[in-house]
Amino acid sequence: MHRWQRVADATGLTGPGGVVRPTVFAEMSALAVRTGAVNLGQGFPDVDGPEHVVEAAVAALRGGHNQYPPGGGIPELRAAVAAHQQRHYGLELDPATQVLVTTGATEALAAAVLALADPGDEVLTLEPFYDSYAAVIAMAGARHVTVPLVPGPDGFRVDLAALEAAVGPRTRMILLNSPHNPTGAVLTRAELDAVAALVREHDLLVVTDEVYEHLVFDDTRHVPVATLPGMAERTLTVSSAGKTLSFTGWKVGWLTGPAELVAAVRTVQQYLTYASGAPFQPAVAEALRDDDGTTAAWIRELAASLGTRRDLLCAGLVEAGFDVVVPRGTYFAVADGAGLGFDDGAELCRALPELAGVVGVPVSAFCLAGSPTADALRSRVRFTFVKREQVLAQGIAGLRRLASRERP
Ligand SMILES: *Cc1c(COP(=O)(O)O)cnc(C)c1O
Repeated sequence: MHRWQRVADATGLTGPGGVVRPTVFAEMSALAVRTGAVNLGQGFPDVDGPEHVVEAAVAALRGGHNQYPPGGGIPELRAAVAAHQQRHYGLELDPATQVLVTTGATEALAAAVLALADPGDEVLTLEPFYDSYAAVIAMAGARHVTVPLVPGPDGFRVDLAALEAAVGPRTRMILLNSPHNPTGAVLTRAELDAVAALVREHDLLVVTDEVYEHLVFDDTRHVPVATLPGMAERTLTVSSAGKTLSFTGWKVGWLTGPAELVAAVRTVQQYLTYASGAPFQPAVAEALRDDDGTTAAWIRELAASLGTRRDLLCAGLVEAGFDVVVPRGTYFAVADGAGLGFDDGAELCRALPELAGVVGVPVSAFCLAGSPTADALRSRVRFTFVKREQVLAQGIAGLRRLASRERP
């Protein structure tokens, strides 16, 4: 089997006769365009990031920052990432050896898995999981082992007994994600402590996807895994400007951690893209340096406004008859359509444009095909609330039609 076929298999894209289908994300976005439905499927903001950061990018474009930037990232951005980790989390990093700038978090994750997981190694993730994880684990030839997130009154929580049982002699790495897409769960200190204890005991690596690090609500606190005792030396932390600054199209990301591990990832990453985003890197550096606190204030406002929009969407979904697990962070809420008479989230998503003028993404798209978790979460759908309030209101008005309709 060719590697692309393994990727198609691992991501559920291999159809009858071996043909490769478009992803559910592409299918649902196309459905939204075709039907004119409100697209609450794909999670990207419909308002751009801070104006002063756009201006910094324009100045960089006009100022001649248009050729290859240095591999590993411009020194100003590496220094700004290190300063950010120090200021927010007390993590001390050498910008020269412990920070790598990448083409979005996506490339950082891919390079880390390709660099450090070998064929036959097992890579653990939570399930559901961000869709690129299954693909890069397949590209590396490693085995994807999952640990369920289980919905309850306190949100989606890690099945800690399953986590312990999942670690074995072939386990190489835990690929963690908190705040978590698609569930909106923010791992608690107790959950992180349990992960860290296993990682130390079995001498594992952690790659942690923290792209929603600043987008948490209420009194929720994001705790980076690298801040736990004994974890800085075995953790690679990944983040990006996409979600924090609402510039998902810029694809400026970074990875931080111990020098030997960063060097290993850099060895692979320099032959994937080498470098990208020449005019965006200085702009993101300026934003992260945040000399006058403007960016911090902007991010705080974004998080507060996302919290309000989460409340709006969740209330609308409940009113429509969904059972909603309230997220503590990210762009997303997961809603259960079982009470509306739909036991298959994918079928519900295909029907939603007609029934409610809205598009979502079935949670099964974030699960291994046929897994127990895919089965347990079969009737659930992910909706995004990272849209302007008037767009959400239009979606919610459509969803209200669901509550009053005749059952199929
Ligand atoms: C959006 C997202 C990414 C991708 O980040 P980029 O910087 O756009 O590559 C990675 N992980 C999660 C969980 C995401 O939601």
